[in-house]
Amino acid sequence: MAATMRVRVVGSSASVPRPGRACSCHLIRTREANVLLDMGTGALANLREVMDYPDLDAIVISHMHADHFLDLIPLRYGLKYGPLLREERLPLWLPPGGEQQLRALAATFSPEGPKDFLDEVFEITEYDPKGEVYVGNLTISFAKTIHYIDAYAVRVERDGASVCYSSDTAPCDAVEELAHGCNLFLCEASLGLAQENGEMRGHLSAVEAGQMAQRAGARRLVLTHYGTEFAPGELEDAARSTYRGPCAAADDGTELTI
Ligand SMILES: [Zn+2]
Ligand SMILES: [Zn+2]
Repeated sequence: MAATMRVRVVGSSASVPRPGRACSCHLIRTREANVLLDMGTGALANLREVMDYPDLDAIVISHMHADHFLDLIPLRYGLKYGPLLREERLPLWLPPGGEQQLRALAATFSPEGPKDFLDEVFEITEYDPKGEVYVGNLTISFAKTIHYIDAYAVRVERDGASVCYSSDTAPCDAVEELAHGCNLFLCEASLGLAQENGEMRGHLSAVEAGQMAQRAGARRLVLTHYGTEFAPGELEDAARSTYRGPCAAADDGTELTI
């Protein structure tokens, strides 16, 4: 049977990119739609290795930390000046409050003002995290994570095939519910083998990522959003101590099929 969905890890780094790697960016492709989940630092260069950026159908941003949206800026230049252009504006789905933040950033350097700078190439909408977004035949839903700012895990479904992306989160029941029974759980493991203690938590260790995948009944776990402190193999071993399904650490360029 042909794959229903293909997932390409475009950027697998946490906020400080690993050498030669990009920050968070995951491309979901079906025959009918290409959707990008997040677009962190360095993502556009990697994306251009696999597709022409005007062929994107939508971008969904999980939260407004720089390692999840900053490459929207070089993408804007690409859409405005080429080398590749798009006839219609590209739908850009931001979290609640994200529009104002992106406009404030653009206002610091765009002589034409943030409205023209962004609106010429992007069709900006803030999603309602309680609702759904539809792109082609894909249904996209959300769950609020536990993070330092408002952030949303994202689930993408088509014909019973499903991918859930954790965004940035501490251990979180709502994210586990969103990931329930998914074919593929792309889960952050920013802390690696370390622990985050205290009241203010916002990330997962690899062991915790495994726990969440196990509780969610995810059929496959891929660890992403990690740094250089630990080897990918160490993260996989740690996650396997709590998750019994197939598990691997992502790298930029990893291709997964569902
Ligand atoms: Zn974050
Ligand atoms: Zn992050």
